[in-house]
Amino acid sequence: MICQSCTEAQRHLDGDTELVIASLSTPSGDPLRLVTLCRASEIFRQLPILLIAEESDLHRLAKGLDLGANDYLIRPVDRNELLARTGTQIRRKRLQDRLHENYQRSLSLALTDDLTGLYNRRYFLAHLDELIDRVDHDHVNAALLLFDIDHFKQVNDTYGHAAGDQVLRELASRAMNSVRSVDLVARLGGEEFVVVMPETDSIVATAVAERLRLAVAREPFIVGAGGVKVAVTISIGVTAAAEGGDCRERLLKRADDALYDAKSAGRNRIVTRLADLPPIALASLAQRNDETIGPARLRAEPISIGDCKPKDESDNSARSRPFVSCQRASAVTHGPWPALKTQACGGGPSFDASMTVRD
Ligand code: GH3
Ligand code: MG
Ligand code: MG
Repeated sequence: MICQSCTEAQRHLDGDTELVIASLSTPSGDPLRLVTLCRASEIFRQLPILLIAEESDLHRLAKGLDLGANDYLIRPVDRNELLARTGTQIRRKRLQDRLHENYQRSLSLALTDDLTGLYNRRYFLAHLDELIDRVDHDHVNAALLLFDIDHFKQVNDTYGHAAGDQVLRELASRAMNSVRSVDLVARLGGEEFVVVMPETDSIVATAVAERLRLAVAREPFIVGAGGVKVAVTISIGVTAAAEGGDCRERLLKRADDALYDAKSAGRNRIVTRLADLPPIALASLAQRNDETIGPARLRAEPISIGDCKPKDESDNSARSRPFVSCQRASAVTHGPWPALKTQACGGGPSFDASMTVRD
């Protein structure tokens, strides 16, 4: 394409442009400005620019090369030399584009899971470390949901491995749709996934877990060419990072223990496990609940997790309303603080948190 002015050339530049040949004697606008603009732009930084100058204009030519032009020709221009130089610049650009694409592809393969497109374990662990750092330094909350498909082996055995893969992809999509864009969903491996939620405490995280559990249990998954409906459920372990020395291993262990408890308790349910909380943290947790009047009566009062009430009453698996009830369990009193054991209520999703409170 031939343009009469620098402004026109600028307007026509796009991601497919492979080379700019600019004459320093262009009557309208300064081609050196075009060089500067390209080099300052993220998209056109690597775009080859070839300058054409008069013998008398060597000073501006030197300036153009200084600003980032790749090559030049002096008038009168020899046709073969022009072809050779443009060919070299275009080949260099194409090679650079291919290298960049390969780099981007390997970067995404290293961080994402092939089957579901979610982040993989490696990315999740790096992200989790950063989040725990923020909990300690910026005093913000962070919560973790660990979930696993119930009896997934049976899905593979009954409908085949390809159908199992479809279930994994659909689960990934339902999980993504159940959380905020700032939350990170990752596949840890097999049929085990995780959601990392910044600036979220355990109460909200439990409500989100319940939403996710319902999003999976409520609608069957459609698999295979024949569109077979498969009922799928998940069990979820929930935990939150505690300020002051929580670490990746402890956090994951708590979530894993909670998930194990959810499986043992019958699957298709949620169990939340918290780190031992100092009284002040427990008090603020309690205050966040509408029906709670503070730690003094916490032992006796049930704490409602407002959002956890199943919206779809036809879902039998969630018929009972999950809530936290805190009862003094004298048998597990230890240390300076008697332990409060909070127990799952009803046969539906449960909340089970072990906390300690100063008497
Ligand atoms: P539980 O409720 O205790 O979690 O039982 P489960 O059957 O889900 O657990 P188990 O660990 O016995 O089986 C997990 C199954 O997940 C076995 C394995 O073949 C299957 N699996 C793991 N990765 C993939 C995958 O990428 N695609 C498919 N289709 N299946 C997978
Ligand atoms: Mg499983
Ligand atoms: Mg598993």
